Amino acid sequence: MQAMVLKKLRTPLAWTELADRAPGPGQIRLQIAACGVCRTDLHVVDGELPHPHVPIIPGHEIIGRIDALGAGVDGLKLGERVGIPWLGHTCGVCPYCRAQRENLCDDPLFTGYTRDGGFATATVADARFAFPLGETGSDAALAPLLCAGLIGWRSLVIAGDGKRLGLYGFGAAAHILAQVAAWQGRLVYAFTRPGDHATQNFAKTLGVAWAGGSDDMPPEPLDAAIIFATDGALVPLALQAVRRGGRVVCAGIHMTDIPRFPYSLLWEERQLLSVANLTRQDGIDFLALVPQIGIVTKTNLYPLQQANQALDDLRAGRFEGAAVLVP
Ligand SMILES: [Zn+2]
Ligand SMILES: [Zn+2]
Repeated sequence: MQAMVLKKLRTPLAWTELADRAPGPGQIRLQIAACGVCRTDLHVVDGELPHPHVPIIPGHEIIGRIDALGAGVDGLKLGERVGIPWLGHTCGVCPYCRAQRENLCDDPLFTGYTRDGGFATATVADARFAFPLGETGSDAALAPLLCAGLIGWRSLVIAGDGKRLGLYGFGAAAHILAQVAAWQGRLVYAFTRPGDHATQNFAKTLGVAWAGGSDDMPPEPLDAAIIFATDGALVPLALQAVRRGGRVVCAGIHMTDIPRFPYSLLWEERQLLSVANLTRQDGIDFLALVPQIGIVTKTNLYPLQQANQALDDLRAGRFEGAAVLVP
């Protein structure tokens, strides 16, 4: 197998020939067909997450076909198409796992961060954390759903059922979530970098009710807002944009410091929350809805060997939608 490997933090990934791996008990091996590029991959490469592991193969939006089954794997078969998400393993016995909050597990493994991920031609995964995907939809189109879609979905559930929903940062996750929210009958307000008319126009093609800069106030107060961008300065802006009792959900794994803000922005029962990781149930719930919603992902394809270019383009905001690596 070949992979783009992060050998040292804050250095480019290196194209590397590796020995083929055999799946252990309870594991499957996939031949990878596509792997999405997520902002979290940038945080991994940049060493912005705690306890970094190197060398590591990044990538946690993996679509592939099973070509080897380890001992004791049930319910999956050779040749089946599956998706491998960020949540790669949980302990199953800690208080969080027992309380159906495995996203907060005491002893988890995360794909592409603490276990090898999908910037590769093949990978080995824990079979219990693989989602069967069926045959509808192309591999590349499905890849962004595995994290951008799933984390977006969890964020949407936590944001509650308010009608007016703000999305701060209109990248891979928001462009999927805007379609989900519209399908649910909500009004979506898209906030981009100030002056980024290209992304505002892109948002409008997805049926949002309003698009503007993150320093603008929406025309009506929002019931909830989800922040996908990494800029902590958006938190007070979003609190200002939501009505009394409204919620602001921070969906990213990493954010710059939140500036001081007056208590009056939080007062009147506004709530500020964060979303961490996903549970397998989130994946089951979301992926069951995908065919009904008819989500169309905007993908920008890169050959696997150009993973560094894809990461650079994501960092610089050079495309709309999501980048996907294809071996
Ligand atoms: Zn656990
Ligand atoms: Zn991700």
